[in-house]
Parts: sequence; C-alpha cells; structure tokens
Amino acid sequence: MRINRLRLAATVLALAALGLVGAASKSGPTRFGQVDDARIANAAKEPQNWLVHSANQAAWRYSALDQINVDSIKDLKVAWTVEFDTDRGQESTPIVVDGVAYVSTTWSKVYAVDAKTGRQIWFFDPKTPGEAGLLACCDAVNRGVAVYKGKVYVGTLDGRLIAIDARTGKQVWSTMTVPENETYTITSAPRVGGGLIYIGNAGGEFGGRGFVSAYDAETGKKAWKFFLTPGKPGVKDGEVSDEIMEKVVQPTWFGPYTDYRGGANVWGSLIYDPDLKQVYLPTGNGFPWNRQFRSDGKGDNLFIASIVALDARTGKYKWHYQETPGDVWDFDAVADIVMLDLPVNGKIRKAMIHTPKAGYAWELDRVTGKVISGVPFVDGVTWTSGLDPKTGRPIMDEAGFYDNQNPVRAPGFAHSWQPTSYSPKTGYLYLQASQGPPGLFTPTPAPYEWLKGIDRRGIYRYNTIPPETIAKQPPPPPNPVTRRSFLLAWDPVKQAPAWKTDANGGGVLATGGNLVFQGQGRGSAMGILNAYRADTGQKVWSVNTSNGISTGPMSYMVDGEQYVLLATGTAMFPPIATDVRARQKGVLVAFKLNGKGAMPADPPPAPPFKVIPADQQWPAADIAWAHETFASFCARCHGDGSRNNNVVPDLRRSAYLTSAEAWKAVVEDGALRDRGMIAFYPRFLPPGGAEKLRGYIADEARKAIAAPAAAAAPPPTPVGPPTEH
Ligand code: CA
Repeated sequence: MRINRLRLAATVLALAALGLVGAASKSGPTRFGQVDDARIANAAKEPQNWLVHSANQAAWRYSALDQINVDSIKDLKVAWTVEFDTDRGQESTPIVVDGVAYVSTTWSKVYAVDAKTGRQIWFFDPKTPGEAGLLACCDAVNRGVAVYKGKVYVGTLDGRLIAIDARTGKQVWSTMTVPENETYTITSAPRVGGGLIYIGNAGGEFGGRGFVSAYDAETGKKAWKFFLTPGKPGVKDGEVSDEIMEKVVQPTWFGPYTDYRGGANVWGSLIYDPDLKQVYLPTGNGFPWNRQFRSDGKGDNLFIASIVALDARTGKYKWHYQETPGDVWDFDAVADIVMLDLPVNGKIRKAMIHTPKAGYAWELDRVTGKVISGVPFVDGVTWTSGLDPKTGRPIMDEAGFYDNQNPVRAPGFAHSWQPTSYSPKTGYLYLQASQGPPGLFTPTPAPYEWLKGIDRRGIYRYNTIPPETIAKQPPPPPNPVTRRSFLLAWDPVKQAPAWKTDANGGGVLATGGNLVFQGQGRGSAMGILNAYRADTGQKVWSVNTSNGISTGPMSYMVDGEQYVLLATGTAMFPPIATDVRARQKGVLVAFKLNGKGAMPADPPPAPPFKVIPADQQWPAADIAWAHETFASFCARCHGDGSRNNNVVPDLRRSAYLTSAEAWKAVVEDGALRDRGMIAFYPRFLPPGGAEKLRGYIADEARKAIAAPAAAAAPPPTPVGPPTEH
C-alpha cells in the first residue's frame, strides 16, 4: 500500500500523541536508544526511524518514506556531512532512532550524531589494538551497531562485545566473546531480539572454529554459544552445540583433527526471527579453502557454507541447509538473509531468500529449512548443475573440486556481503551481482603448513604459481560468459530477474518513493551515488560523493524532512590500480530535498610513484624471493605488487620506500603498529627480509614509472581467485 505524504504526516502526529516519537524537537534529540521488541515489531508504523541494522527484523532494508521520490529527487542535495577520523574502509549502516544517528566506523569506533544537523553528540573509541588488524582479512572495517533499551552495542575487531549508554556514550559493560590469542575478529553488526544480543565473528581465512554466542542485553552475561565446526573427536565443548556436533557434524569431516581446520565463521548477516523465535546463522567458507588439507579431500564439512537455524533463547539446533557441500571456492554463505512470506502452490509459507557468492537464489522454508526453490541469479554458474528435486542438495561433479584435479577454475563470486534490499511495493529484491570468467584455483603442494596469523588457504596466491605448474594447466573449460557487474532486481515469486542495469557498487536501499539507491565503489565511477526507478531500473539521479562506496545507504525522517544517509569510504578491495586517489577520510553524508550542505572536495590524485636513486640496486634473486614473500604476507592488504586503490597504502608511492631506515622501522620494528601494520620481524621475516621487500617494491615502482599504462591496469593473469571477505 502506498503511504502518501499527508497520510505519513498524520501517522507521525498520531504516534507523537502516543509518545512514540520523541525525536526531533527544535532543541535536538531528547530520547536515546529507546528501542525494544514491541517497537521493532511495529517498525512499519514509524518509517521515520530505522530501528535495527537492516531496518526491520525481516532484513528488508526498506524505507517506506516517499517524500524523496522519482519526481522530487531532482532537488536532492547534501544536507550535512561528518568527517570520520579514519581514512580506511567504511562498511557501516547507521541506525537512526528519534533523531539520533548511531554509526560505527573503522577500528570499531562509534559516533552518535544529531540526525538533523550532523552535530556530534558523543564519540566512543574502544581502543582496538592495531595488532587486531593482522587478523582482518579485508581491512579494519565495522558494519554497524545495534540499539536496544537505552544501549548501543558494538563488536570490536579484537573480539569484544561492548554495551554503550545511548545517551552519554559511556561504556556500560564489555565482554570478550572470543578466546584470547586465537584467530578471530569481529566486523559484523550485533543483532538484537528477545532480550539477547547475538554476535558472530570472522576469521575463516586464518583457521579456527566459527561460532556464535548470545549475551543478556542488560548484563552482558553469556546465554549460549554454538560452534559451527567440530572440535576434537570425543571431546565435548560443554556448549549447546555438543550434541549436534557429535551426531551430525563430526561424521562429515575426515582426516586427522588439527588445531587450525574449521571455518564456517558467521561474519555477516545473522538475523533474529521474532515470529518463530529463531536465529539464522549464515556461515562462511571452510578453512583451509583446499579440502585436501582440511578434510582428506572429502566430506560435506558441516556447517560450512550453510544456513543454520537455532532456538533464539537457548541456542538449541533446529535445522540446517548446506548451500555448497564441501566448499573449496570460498563460497561464504554470508549474504543478507531476507525473510518473506511467499506464495507457494497457492499457500503462503514463512520463507527466506538468500543470494550468496555461489550464485544461486535460494528460497527456504523458515519452519523446516526445506528448499522451496533454488535457481542461479547470474549466468555461468558451473559448480553445480542444479538442485536435487527431492532433497534440495546441489548436484556436484567431484571432478570440479580442485583437491581432485589440478588445477581448475571455478565461477567467480556472484554476491558477497553487500547489503540487499526488498521492496514490498515492487515485490523485488535488489542486489549487486557479478558474473564472469571463472577465477583460477591452483592447489599448493602437500604438505600444507599452517602459519598462525597468515591467511594460508592451501592454494597459490597472486602471481606465484610456478611456471612449470602453469605449463601443465589444462585450458579452462568452456564458459562463454561475459564479465558483467550489475544491479539486479530479482522477482522472488517468478524466480527471475525483473531488470538489470550495469553497476559496480555496494549495498542497496529501496524506498517508498519508487527508488533504489546504490553507491559505486570501483573503477572510474568510484564514489558516484545513483538512484534508479525501483520498478524499471531507469536511472533518475546521480551525485559524486568524492569517496568510494561499499555499504548501503539508509533513510529516515526528522521534523518532516526525509534524509538519505550513507557512510562513504571504499573498501580496500578490489586491488585494482585504476583512478587511484590520495588517501582521504571517510565521510558520513546526509541528503535531503533542497539541502544546503556541501560535499567535501574530490581528493587529488594519489602521489606519484617514488623515484628510487639509480645507485640503489638489489640482486635479482632477492627481488624474486621478495615477490613470493610479498604475495604470501603482504599482498592480502597491499595487493599483488602493491597495486591497490590506496585505501591501504600503495607502497610504490610511500615516502617510507625511499629510506632503508624508515622502511625497516615500519616493517621490522612496527612503527605503524597502531594502524595495523605490525612488526613482521622476527615473527614472519628472516633477518634482512625487510630490505629485500623494499627492493621488490622499488622495482615495482620503477616498472610503474617506465610503463604507466601497464601499472594502471589490473595485474596480469594468471592470478589467484577473486578475494573479498
Ligand atoms: Ca571467505
């Protein structure tokens, strides 16, 4: 049903009379974080607020507001901006309650700002140690906070869950959710419901068992903990997952138990279902990626790449569905889960839709976990030929697993963590999607050696595949799929695209104004925020935000004016060196009709590649050694050959490169450890290793100066598989 402006105003007035709208007096906000289950359940009645991470518990990320619509959007202008204190990636979605925006940023810091003016109310810094950055696969990002009963909750990169007083910004309680000295980080937003806070963790590229835990929202006391991969056979964890681990999960793993194997980390969009009192855990890849090293080259390896449903109050297992049995392609199943009531054969079923990296749009029954349907939403999905009509299990060719055949290509990632949005007006789900020629996965030879703190996945990375292995590679299987990235409107009832438009961006917001907003994070369109007609995909508005965009916008209303709010600051990936700009602070940007604010200026181009004096030379053998070492230890943040978008510094442009002493101070002594650049010596580098690395990067800088066009292009193939969380 369309909510027009007059009707909305009437609703707001009625809610104000009930005391439900406390925001927005002329003197600024007066109520802070007053969100509870009843209010969340009725979120549709107060579209001026965005109460939970994904707007509602069904994770629609939909705003019914329609003051900004296809007709008025021509007048959409900047209202205000807030500059963050960091130049690293931004992946947060703000929450807005009663005129206050609660926003997390890099290194798990939190801002509370007046949503009408951008004036800072408080700022919370959990003092995350820079060392935690070592274990973050993809920058020190944070995707958002939870707000509940007067408190704001944030998960920190080093694994704490912290409750903050929503009015004062002071810490109320803090609890360490992960075991000390292990390979976990937290980047996802905590979720709330039924008096508990639910939090997962990341780390599936480093080793260790994924788990989710729940805490009492008031006290921080642990309610339950559920592991997602098995522990040592015969050894109980003393947690609620013990029984299912022993009976169902353990038998799907093979080979000797090791301290590092595991994965299935819930680093994205776990959600709370208030209707069925369940939580759904979407799980990540197994570790190491190469199943030969993980599980003797066989087995489904539950619960990797799965959705697991638990009783929200007790954590007791309800059901699971594994999307990619035995995954070896990093097919994290962590994309947004969106709850829908779907008509199936004339009956309405409590369902969910899920559109992860594996490229299928799955529809599951939320009560039973049974597959309703599953069809590819991009072209060129080759890892499965379809779903077994009886069981819903993907039909897979064992020859496709690279632990059985060396090497193989696999489909690229169709859709990672970038937020999706569902509009009840159009009935479409909107998401960023990608298809293209498959990435190359080449296993490293046995024996596999785990190195704690380094993302050793059991496959070659970047350009380090030995030439003799490349020579033996069979030609890629036919896959005549054109590389394409696009914004997809998907019809969950017809299970087919409604429209597609070329886009290479981040998260998505659909609104009651028949609009879909999406920012662009890559290439020459980096930083452009676009709006499209939700029904047809026609582009109707566009603005340059001066910064790359990875996450999705959200929308709210204060004093009768609708805003669109977005955290800009691109993710460190992909490491493509086109259109590289100077490093710049992330910016929170609010738009409204006829706004009078100003966007920060476009940053200048990145500084030039450093000229290294000709008398500085390194032996070719040292450079070759450093190339491989850089690929193993450094490239996951800095990019292959340090070709990157300069969110994490492009070292070829770094002032440290010109001085052996300064370089050593950083690489060996940890001078920049607070920014996540730890001392790599002696933990990972031999004596003299740092200087060899300087030689390699100096060589790369010289090559870039000699051939600027080649330097600006993506790395030559063959490269490792695409990497994004
Ligand atoms: Ca992953």
